[in-house]
Amino acid sequence: MESPKIINFQSLTQGVGRFNFKDKTCLIPQMNWIGCHLLAAVFRGYGIKTRVMETCKGLDLGKEYTSGKECYPCQITTGDILYAMKEEKERLGQAFNAESYIYFMPEADGPCRFGMYNKYQRIILDRFPELQKLKIGALSTNDGYSLAGIIDDSRVRDLRKTSYFSLVVGDILDRLLWRIRPYESTAGAADAFIEKATHHMGDAFERFGPDKDFDGILRELDGVIHEGKGIVDPEIPPKPFIGIVGEIYLRTHVQANQDVIRVLERYGAEVVNASICEWANYTSYDRLREAKARLRLCLRQFRLGHMKEILREIAGYAGDFYYQKFRQKKTYKHIASLIDLPEDHDIGHLEAILKEKDLFSFEVGTEACLSISGIVSYAREGYNGVVNVYPFTCMPSTITSAIVKPIMNDLGVPYLDTPYDSSVQPGREAAIRTFMYQAEQHFKRHGRKRQM
Ligand code: SF4
Repeated sequence: MESPKIINFQSLTQGVGRFNFKDKTCLIPQMNWIGCHLLAAVFRGYGIKTRVMETCKGLDLGKEYTSGKECYPCQITTGDILYAMKEEKERLGQAFNAESYIYFMPEADGPCRFGMYNKYQRIILDRFPELQKLKIGALSTNDGYSLAGIIDDSRVRDLRKTSYFSLVVGDILDRLLWRIRPYESTAGAADAFIEKATHHMGDAFERFGPDKDFDGILRELDGVIHEGKGIVDPEIPPKPFIGIVGEIYLRTHVQANQDVIRVLERYGAEVVNASICEWANYTSYDRLREAKARLRLCLRQFRLGHMKEILREIAGYAGDFYYQKFRQKKTYKHIASLIDLPEDHDIGHLEAILKEKDLFSFEVGTEACLSISGIVSYAREGYNGVVNVYPFTCMPSTITSAIVKPIMNDLGVPYLDTPYDSSVQPGREAAIRTFMYQAEQHFKRHGRKRQM
């Protein structure tokens, strides 16, 4: 790469935002492996050239061009895009043109740094003259991750619905893997199976997604589940059941969390991670909640002129939220006849848990809303232990930890914090082993509520 040049702050408004993906290649950073590949397949089905970038290969670049104060996911994704561009430049030589790519980096509003990643990465990309024309496609929680503007208006709703469905199916494949891997009859069979299944479901989304033929996709999923069940050795007895919460990137990015689920499994756990849909549902739920609060304020202040606009917003957010809820419930109900996978937490129920004892508030926002209530919910559902997985210094996760530790003590359910950065913490494995010993004791005393 060429040497860094002067920073152009203007591009924070011009080079980050919502851009039409026509004739561009969309580069998706890899978070959870399955979900990202299914989403990329959906985009391809709708005519958007899309690739999931390799991850962590450019971590040295990520660390070189960040200051060390950023959250770990920011370092990883910075490295991923710099590495992807370096590879493309080497592959294409003179024909390389950064303008033909869009780097897909959503954001979130609220009081944490995720909302600033894409601006910060814009500044870094602008230091390389050949990357100044690389646009950052930023979708925001502000409008519930609307996809408006990225393809023709007539296809936006369909793309959004199919994208959401790919998240649901991605979550189910993840849960299928965690359900069967601890009980596999041949070591490595579950991993090999899930890789093949992900490609298979990706093809299904590319083929059936553009017509919103969700039944066609479900038929393929049924076949996958049947095959996956065949991997289980029925002689292996049930294991302690462990729930995971935390920061979405770290808890789903296997390299970043040093494969924490596999480590837990090695010490005897069956694990369920909080889902990706939980975050998507939360953002829609929260937009709706905020719009309703604005409506109440308008009524109190007699600002009736604004009401029409707010009512329109409420209708839009309610449509998104209830559609997601309907689609997710219907899909989990469908697969319940094939395999016992845990259903996702209901967001309204999670908010009610926080309100019961005023533990935290959705008014504050961030993933702490989901993690605190998710932990309490796991404990009530009879899980034998809960792990909080997050980037070192992550603000919402540190808040979560401070609030839930005494609660878990009172409930008598083992709990473990696992903050990660690029270093390997000595003693981490011992901490997980100790936690699993406690979970095993809990399991012996209380069993597990969910039957196998
Ligand atoms: S959630 Fe945590 S890791 Fe993510 S941006 Fe906020 S502080 Fe950083």
